[in-house]
Amino acid sequence: MSVNLKIAIQKSGRLHDDSISLLKDCGIDIKNGVNRLMVEAENFPLSVFFLRDDDIPQYVEDKVVDLGIVGENVLFEKQKDAVVVEKLGFGKCRLSVAVPKVEEYTGPAFLNHKTIATSYPVLVQHYLQQHQLTAEIHEISGSVEIAPGIGLSDAIVDLVSSGSTLFMNGLKEVEVILKSEAVMVKHQDLHPAQQQLLDKLLFRIRSVKKARKNKYILLNAPNHNLENIVALLPGIKSPTVLPLAQSGWSSVHSVVNENDFWDLIEKLKIAGAEGILVVPIEKMIV
Ligand code: ATP
Ligand code: ZN
Repeated sequence: MSVNLKIAIQKSGRLHDDSISLLKDCGIDIKNGVNRLMVEAENFPLSVFFLRDDDIPQYVEDKVVDLGIVGENVLFEKQKDAVVVEKLGFGKCRLSVAVPKVEEYTGPAFLNHKTIATSYPVLVQHYLQQHQLTAEIHEISGSVEIAPGIGLSDAIVDLVSSGSTLFMNGLKEVEVILKSEAVMVKHQDLHPAQQQLLDKLLFRIRSVKKARKNKYILLNAPNHNLENIVALLPGIKSPTVLPLAQSGWSSVHSVVNENDFWDLIEKLKIAGAEGILVVPIEKMIV
């Protein structure tokens, strides 16, 4: 029997496109799966199942699929037997407590003996216990942010990314219960040959993640300031320096982290660098 892995990803919604892009960037060809439950990858022994995100932890626990891509928020709420194998760096959001803007909020004790509307009763209960508080939890499945406005609850616990939905509903974010991102999970009983396949996939995912965090930078440096410029650049080993046809100048190549990027450009310009080019990296194997 040929070895194969089954992976569940969100059918549609906030994690769908990024999950597909990640697999594609790993060189896995998936035909458009709109309106299909499952598609087979063309060039990797992987079947991709399209499901509601809430169902993914259960499908993994039941071993209907071997892997899943799901938000930590959903994974922790569902409490199923699924093991995180890799954080994926997308789908970032926070699960937060929000209260009406007009309330004077002084700390978690505000929630004591109040009502809280949420789609995350397990995580909220856990948070209350941690802070030794009691509150009534109203579980609702959508539009949690309107609950205080219609008199259903005193506070909410919901996912937030920018905070604009809260603001529009007269609420303010006061506590972060959980910081979440998309993760890849597996069940505990992968066949050794399947684990080998997963390792191969993980190797690719890690090189894609690294590449996304880094940029390749090329610039021209006046030789009299070359040492200073090279000292500013990290590189994988050290920057590459090549002579330019024009005497007195060199071409310098390096890899830089996206986070330090703008600061670095400023410093390079001050040090006399010219013709700075920045290009994305597709894969990074170090
Ligand atoms: P489904 O139909 O699959 O149940 P859904 O409506 O529950 O979809 P989405 O709104 O598409 O879910 O969100 C899926 C996941 O995306 C969330 O569980 C969370 O991990 C992540 N996410 C990232 N940012 C946000 C955000 N601002 N609001 C909600 N979810 C976010
Ligand atoms: Zn959902």
